[in-house]
Amino acid sequence: MEQTGIEELKKAGKITQEVKSFAKSFIIKGMLLLEIADKIESKIRELGGKPAFPVNLSINEIAAHSTPAWNDSGIAHGLLKVDIGVHIDGFVADTAISIDLENNLENKKLIEAAEQALINALQHARLNAPLNDIGKSIEQTIKSFSFLPVQNLSGHSIEPWNLHAGITVPNFGNGQNKVLEEGVYAIEPFSTNGFGAVRDGRKSGIFSVQKEANVRDSFAREVFAFIQKEYQTLPFCSRWLHKKFGSRALLALQRLEEAGILHHYAQLVEINKGKVAQAEHTIIVTEKETIVTT
Ligand code: MN
Ligand code: MN
Repeated sequence: MEQTGIEELKKAGKITQEVKSFAKSFIIKGMLLLEIADKIESKIRELGGKPAFPVNLSINEIAAHSTPAWNDSGIAHGLLKVDIGVHIDGFVADTAISIDLENNLENKKLIEAAEQALINALQHARLNAPLNDIGKSIEQTIKSFSFLPVQNLSGHSIEPWNLHAGITVPNFGNGQNKVLEEGVYAIEPFSTNGFGAVRDGRKSGIFSVQKEANVRDSFAREVFAFIQKEYQTLPFCSRWLHKKFGSRALLALQRLEEAGILHHYAQLVEINKGKVAQAEHTIIVTEKETIVTT
């Protein structure tokens, strides 16, 4: 990997560390998800970063891809995953914590399983390590807690302005013989007391640009120009655009989605409605060492 960007990657990671402890310090049961999202995203900016994606606040059987809408009345409860992304000039840190807001023993065990799986996986995360070893370690650790890994969610390589850059870091032993190459990766075990897989649920209000094309509506064009300048190919959400442009933005997003310009992410829901916990770190793999940035 080129040396460029290492400082930005580290700085983005440092910001996520501060934001995670900040999040742990103020999130309580019953708080508006909207308020939590605003506080976290404001903190990221205050510390000199930008959100690399809308903070994901996913509860219980929703494993990922949930962020409050501009007028959301949802409140924090249950087993809450807080998935935070920060970027500096496109260099991304991606990390997640899970919080039990019910003082529930099973929630705590699910969280411990995901966190321990991440710790164990990081032991394997060296240059040229088989990705299968990382996946197997995650699977074995989570199974040792009598839970299952979510098999169709995985870690991923990260490139500048590209959150999911193509390489998959499995959460189970998939028998493939690919090895870890130099680069930036997120490792993110998910544990569940359900089936061990997710399906698409409701639309999330989270989007990313998937192709460039023309749209007739001039206001939609204006919104698209802003999206391209501000987020490039990183995910963003309707809440952010509502804040910037008002309620007209929602119709513009719909037009851009209909034109195939934007991909609209679905929430990811555990197939048996099992509860899901997540832990995630971003690493830089170099010839010399593996650096955990988050
Ligand atoms: Mn994440
Ligand atoms: Mn990730």
